[in-house]
Amino acid sequence: DIQYKLVKFAIILLSPVYKVFENVASSYDQMNDAMSFGIHRLWKDRLIKVLNPPSGTKLLDVAGGTGRDIAFRFLNHVKNKLPRRKAQSETFEAHVTVCDINRAMLKVGQKRAARFHHTSAISWIEGDAEDLPIASSSVDAFTIAFGIRNVTRIHKALSEAYRVLAPGGRFLCLEFSEVQNKLIASAYDKYSFDVIPVMGHVIAGDWKSYQYLVESIRQFPNQEEFARMIEDAGFRHVTYENLSFGIAAIHSGFKL
Ligand code: SAM
Repeated sequence: DIQYKLVKFAIILLSPVYKVFENVASSYDQMNDAMSFGIHRLWKDRLIKVLNPPSGTKLLDVAGGTGRDIAFRFLNHVKNKLPRRKAQSETFEAHVTVCDINRAMLKVGQKRAARFHHTSAISWIEGDAEDLPIASSSVDAFTIAFGIRNVTRIHKALSEAYRVLAPGGRFLCLEFSEVQNKLIASAYDKYSFDVIPVMGHVIAGDWKSYQYLVESIRQFPNQEEFARMIEDAGFRHVTYENLSFGIAAIHSGFKL
């Protein structure tokens, strides 16, 4: 039995598919750090700080990828706020569902989550942000970080967010946005078009994807336009906060 398990383990480690999963996730993290000089971590910390989740929060993180960016941060935040004994107890109440369209990202996340004490505090669901496999009015909070830009019909994803949130629930979206200061905007443009694709080529061996990334950022609605789209989906008290001169923004709305 042990021999069988060892052979199976060796096959998995050597399999090219496993390598692809690992490569995608690790070069993705390296690229995020390289492109933003590590600042994307501060933006994600800020998102969790804005959410300030109470201990029993049920969160849905859509386009959550490997869970490392929002889901793990969320659980750490809740744990750190609890008294030590309660944080380790079986009655840990917070829960996060990571939903992503890419099964490979979820698999990498599931493996990483094994280091958490409360693996029962995370669920992994393969699904499309435009048609969520999640019950209506079932979550307290909805987050989407650097995900909505990739969705084909943004208004569909927003109305799905509205549907799955319970009344009183909060929508938070972290996404690239429009730089507000003209001087910084022109430096940022140069950096985006001249440096990022080269970095993509060198670090991830992928020029095209990072050229697409830069173009998709330019095409995404700016702060005000996106706020209006969130209101059109039914959310109230819609606000946004610029991060790093508007390179990114956090939009917030409530289902009342
Ligand atoms: N949220 C993570 C973060 O903050 O770094 C991952 C963001 S990554 C740039 C974009 C993620 O969106 C990918 O994991 C991708 O699989 C997912 N994605 C793209 N289109 C999607 C869709 N229609 N529904 C759900 N997830 C989607």
